[in-house]
Amino acid sequence: MDHKISGKHIFAFSKDNAPALVVQSGASVEMETLDCFANQLQSVDDRLEALDWERINPATGPVYIEGAVPGDVLKVTVERIRISDRGIMSVGKGMGVLGDMLDGLKFKLMPIQDGFVQFNSEISLPVTPMIGVIGVAPEAKAIGCGTPGPHGGNMDNQMVTAGAILYFPVFVEGALFAIGDLHAAMGDGEIGVTGVEVSGNARVKLEVLKGVSLKNPVLENTDYFTTIASAKRLEDAVKQAALDMAGLLADRLCLPLSEVVMLMSAVGNAQICQIVDPLMTARFVMPKYVANNILYKE
Ligand code: CA
Ligand code: ZN
Repeated sequence: MDHKISGKHIFAFSKDNAPALVVQSGASVEMETLDCFANQLQSVDDRLEALDWERINPATGPVYIEGAVPGDVLKVTVERIRISDRGIMSVGKGMGVLGDMLDGLKFKLMPIQDGFVQFNSEISLPVTPMIGVIGVAPEAKAIGCGTPGPHGGNMDNQMVTAGAILYFPVFVEGALFAIGDLHAAMGDGEIGVTGVEVSGNARVKLEVLKGVSLKNPVLENTDYFTTIASAKRLEDAVKQAALDMAGLLADRLCLPLSEVVMLMSAVGNAQICQIVDPLMTARFVMPKYVANNILYKE
């Protein structure tokens, strides 16, 4: 059966959020999302200064998945992403990697048409839809939708596209899954603090896995397996993602750590998801020809 959620938003991932929808493991859910400004900027006449900053980074949900208990893994298959026909970016003083070079706050609205974002009359950008905020409720206190962590959240990982499969540790009963912050395009790092922000909808399949456990999110696509980790410093995020990958590979391949590190150093990539949120997010990317499944033995 197909399920749909719209108009139910959270601003923090929390065990205390009431479920917006209850589904069985294996259900597909279409989730309508607002852009990261909660659709508050509609025309060039709107003022960023007038924005309600309490209503930033909404996520749609949460979805309670029956049978999910702490210690399980939630498998999320991104079946489809649809985006609106208008993108927004904002940059400003003190925001992001180059914020000390900028004055004030600026935002830009851009039409999206025929697979391209019209940046200006000369430059158009290919649309590469992705999900910025995706995750489950954390174990302890609530985590705002602007912050990433072991529960997922604002990872701003450009690999979260249609066709990607994510695996999240489950911390609370029902997992309480939510999605928001769709981007028409975003570069690694998201250095100006926004991608091309859009509203839209994502259809995901939600399945509970028993007998698998994770500390941090894992992502799989056709060619790669990746671990994802967040920390105050980018170096620590890279180290944690590499550690997670080494642990998973050592288990699956039954190789000593020294051999695993050689493989990771030869063909693995340490990459930046984002370096502008309250915690930085990195991923470690391994090709599937080394191990076609790092989560289970086959
Ligand atoms: Ca984001
Ligand atoms: Zn965003």
